[in-house]
Amino acid sequence: MNDALPAYDVVVIGGGPAGLTAAIALAATGARTALLARRSPYPDNRTTALLGPSIDLLERLEVWPRCRSHAAALQTMRLVDDTGRLIRAPEVRFSSQEIGLEQFGYNIENRSLMVALEERAAEMAVLTRFDDEATAIEPLEATVSIRTGKGDRLAARLVVGADGRQSASRQAAGIAINRRDLHQSALTFNIAHSRPHANVSTEFHTPQGPCVFVPLPGNRCSVVWVSTTREAERLMSLGDDELSEAAETQSHSILGRVHVEAGRSLFPLAIERPTKFASHRVALVGESAHVLPPIGAQGLNMGLRDAADIADIAGKAIALGEDPGSPSVLDRYQSARRSDVTSRMIAIDIANRSLLADFLPVQSLRAAGMHLLGGFGPLRRLAMREGLAPTWRRVG
Ligand SMILES: Cc1cc2nc3c(=O)[nH]c(=O)nc-3n(C[C@H](O)[C@H](O)[C@H](O)COP(=O)(O)OP(=O)(O)OC[C@H]3O[C@@H](n4cnc5c(N)ncnc54)[C@H](O)[C@@H]3O)c2cc1C
Repeated sequence: MNDALPAYDVVVIGGGPAGLTAAIALAATGARTALLARRSPYPDNRTTALLGPSIDLLERLEVWPRCRSHAAALQTMRLVDDTGRLIRAPEVRFSSQEIGLEQFGYNIENRSLMVALEERAAEMAVLTRFDDEATAIEPLEATVSIRTGKGDRLAARLVVGADGRQSASRQAAGIAINRRDLHQSALTFNIAHSRPHANVSTEFHTPQGPCVFVPLPGNRCSVVWVSTTREAERLMSLGDDELSEAAETQSHSILGRVHVEAGRSLFPLAIERPTKFASHRVALVGESAHVLPPIGAQGLNMGLRDAADIADIAGKAIALGEDPGSPSVLDRYQSARRSDVTSRMIAIDIANRSLLADFLPVQSLRAAGMHLLGGFGPLRRLAMREGLAPTWRRVG
């Protein structure tokens, strides 16, 4: 391969929702982009609560109109203390109307989002698809050299590593990862129920973690039930009728009769953060750059902001005749992502720890914080705006 003549400006490795979005956003800037990702059915039944700025991005990329009809609007978010502890927090309700929005965002099955992303990617002439995987990734002086499973060789000035938790791109760039196992797991499944959800997402805070019921179109919700790994495994092993009953009990029957739908998945939870977001011509997006417990619907929303930022920064660099994989361009990406990712990881870690803590002063502090949020409008509105995206930036 000729190291002086890379075929692509950017090769995106990994075709999950973050990688597909990054590839579409990069191609939309006119960058010669390749997507190296196997086309395969989405492997689980996860849903994503996509917050407003993510919807704006997907609109701009001509993805959202293709899947909007499969999504349910999220207008109210209820946090309910279900710890049964001596000191309990008051219920807090966040309403999108309070900050002048019709909805905070939409909940959608990842499968439906992926179909829309794949469809949009397939129609972009400037985006070349390799239905394959990267087997070797080697950052060189002026390019990155990539070998694929089918034996193709690609070269690019910049690699976007969207290859998930076990990221080979991250490893190739020599970026280390800090990982903390949470000894909790999330069970995900979808339910049909007899009462309407009224576009209210309800999060019950239990001593083992949150259990959240998030609206889907019709009388359906997705459930993310975080618990100790042992309890999550027990729930996973229940029959449909038993799990329906358990979910109805956990929801305090607010949705009426509950029937679980086919398909469940179990996710061991961890917090993972790389020491850098970019190095050696590789920029990380999505779960290669951050893994969080599913609290506050932040994971993929952050992944989409990664995708928007790398497309913006690399696209502008290419337009100005700069090398998109150069250290100065990677530094711009690193500074763009650092405070957003770090602050959210800290906030979610604290929220999760405060739920699990048996220590009375921590419970009191948590209750006081929730009391303040519930009773003090300006703080609640700030929390809502900050929850959608950092208040100092908006995607879109
Ligand atoms: C229970 C649960 C609920 C969640 N709920 C929400 C939510 O409501 N809102 C939210 O914002 N986030 C949520 N998240 C987080 C969100 O699901 C993830 O952030 C998101 O799915 C990660 O997408 P990704 O594209 O980064 O990674 P992945 O989907 O893991 O994609 C990585 C892709 O790279 C491919 N790959 C790996 N190695 C290679 C290689 N060598 N060559 C080519 N391809 C490769 C893999 O096959 C895979 O397709 C939740 C997470 C969990 C666990």
